[in-house]
Amino acid sequence: MNHQTTYDCIVIGGGITGSALAYELAKRKLKVLLLEKDQFINNATTCSYGGLPYQAGTNPEISSLFAQSIQIYRHLSEELEQNIEFRELDLLLTIDSTENPQEVAQQYSQCHELPELLSVDSACKLEPLLNPESISGALRLSHAHVNATRVNMAYQDAFKRLSGEIRYEKVTDLIRRANQIQGVITNTNKYYCSHTIISAGGLSRFILESIGITSKIYFTNCVVLKVPAQKKLRLNVMLMPATIKRFTLEAKMSQTDLLWQKLTPESQESIVDVGAVQFRDGSIYLGQTSHIISDPFANLDLDWSQKQIKAGIERLLPKFVDLPFTAQNCLVAFSGDPNRPMMGAIPLWSGIYLFSGFTKTILLAPVLARALAEQIST
Ligand SMILES: Cc1cc2nc3c(=O)[nH]c(=O)nc-3n(C[C@H](O)[C@H](O)[C@H](O)COP(=O)(O)OP(=O)(O)OC[C@H]3O[C@@H](n4cnc5c(N)ncnc54)[C@H](O)[C@@H]3O)c2cc1C
Repeated sequence: MNHQTTYDCIVIGGGITGSALAYELAKRKLKVLLLEKDQFINNATTCSYGGLPYQAGTNPEISSLFAQSIQIYRHLSEELEQNIEFRELDLLLTIDSTENPQEVAQQYSQCHELPELLSVDSACKLEPLLNPESISGALRLSHAHVNATRVNMAYQDAFKRLSGEIRYEKVTDLIRRANQIQGVITNTNKYYCSHTIISAGGLSRFILESIGITSKIYFTNCVVLKVPAQKKLRLNVMLMPATIKRFTLEAKMSQTDLLWQKLTPESQESIVDVGAVQFRDGSIYLGQTSHIISDPFANLDLDWSQKQIKAGIERLLPKFVDLPFTAQNCLVAFSGDPNRPMMGAIPLWSGIYLFSGFTKTILLAPVLARALAEQIST
């Protein structure tokens, strides 16, 4: 079937970025098509802890965006008419027993709100499930939490109520005339539009490459263990390591464009950041490993990740070690400059925008979607 319908906007990708943006565009009375390749979504958003570290901004521009975003989140359930499970939930950044607490705390000295440095005893009072022997202290940060999958679904449902259209088709090419993008080609159709927005997470760079644009947007292949609802165990906080190896990995791997030019199925580097979060229904995510594999479709061996996460969890949260789980992997986009959101019109082109790969995506998606929708609609 060949659709000749013309839209104001086509958004590629139905994760949190694409869904939030599609909703904001439809709210501004634009005719919008959201294209998602998978009917049963398994993407970065469905693997996300859903943490909203709104006090962790390290410069005035980012802190102001975080403050605006948390304001939106506080009222988002009402706006979208669906419960997104928003709540205040402390973030406890665990400091490994091999690390010096004062030195680690120093890494957070630029944060908008200075995290509180807790002794081992105080950290274990706040979170009694912690193994005191695994840490030398912890940092407590005011923080909020949502169920990212629910936020995503709430945005999509609200978008449909505004007459937005969602189709489950894979975008395979962009329709171009000189340096203007006029629409997209999917596995089954061709659609025309004035504005095409790429929100395809880890696959965004490949859509851009299809028209010869090399961008500083990369991706990790991440693994999380999803534990079904637990009635007897209750985490009081969201847990992450204070020294997050993923950030160091991303910074390093965004320096070497060569690595990304050739699709390689082997992992160039893999790290584990031991963390945990429990959702309102009692289910738990234990994470996470991050792998640098330039081929997004490479078959990831989940065994290594399972062993690494389980070993870390056994040390940090011994009562969690025998919980049943399903391991899931996904691509997570990141950019060369975590402090500069990758969003907006693509220079030297018209009709095409990128909305992906920015830091603290779950927190920033609502506020940045509003800003980009405003830019496109005026
Ligand atoms: C374990 C884990 C924990 C995390 N915790 C946090 C956290 O606490 N806070 C936080 O802010 N972030 C967190 N993140 C990161 C965050 O989840 C992601 O950055 C965010 O969900 C990315 O959203 P997205 O819309 O950009 O991408 P995705 O959710 O991956 O969505 C992109 C969509 O595009 C679709 N797509 C791709 N190509 C095409 C195509 N050609 N045609 C049609 N559709 C296409 C894909 O199928 C996918 O559904 C975490 C990530 C992981 C893995």
